[in-house]
Amino acid sequence: MKKLIGEFKDFVSKGNVLDMAVGIIIGGAFTAIVNSLVGDIINPLINTILGGISFAALNITVKAPWIKFLNENVDFFRRNPIEYPVLGFGNFIAAIITFFITALALFILIKSINKASNLAKKKKADEEAAAPTTKICPYCKSEINIEATKCPHCTSDQPKAEA
Ligand SMILES: [Zn+2]
Repeated sequence: MKKLIGEFKDFVSKGNVLDMAVGIIIGGAFTAIVNSLVGDIINPLINTILGGISFAALNITVKAPWIKFLNENVDFFRRNPIEYPVLGFGNFIAAIITFFITALALFILIKSINKASNLAKKKKADEEAAAPTTKICPYCKSEINIEATKCPHCTSDQPKAEA
């Protein structure tokens, strides 16, 4: 238990709380987009293909014989009939479709973010590689460290680097 609490503390302190908060807020907004895409565009398209049948209408009512028996033969259930359970497999299919669309959209989003961040990293690395690390001493013409204020070869004070 102590170990668990320790691990949880690590998790909370390591995870950037602000980043997480931003992620949750963006995630909520993203969910609204996906729901709209599924509910307002994809479902109507599928309904058109199915000939006007909505996912919610795709269900099976399980008319279990014992429920029928109780409802017809027991006084109490005659007054308060048990409702037949409904298997809403249409909604289940819709949830699966929503999941795949969300996963696909996230995949595309993350892929493009990764691509952009890789480009930025590469640019930074290129700039660092291109930045000079040495200079030539104006007095003895030796190659010395760019940040040197005194030449290690001729001990001359180096002119201040131009910004
Ligand atoms: Zn020098």
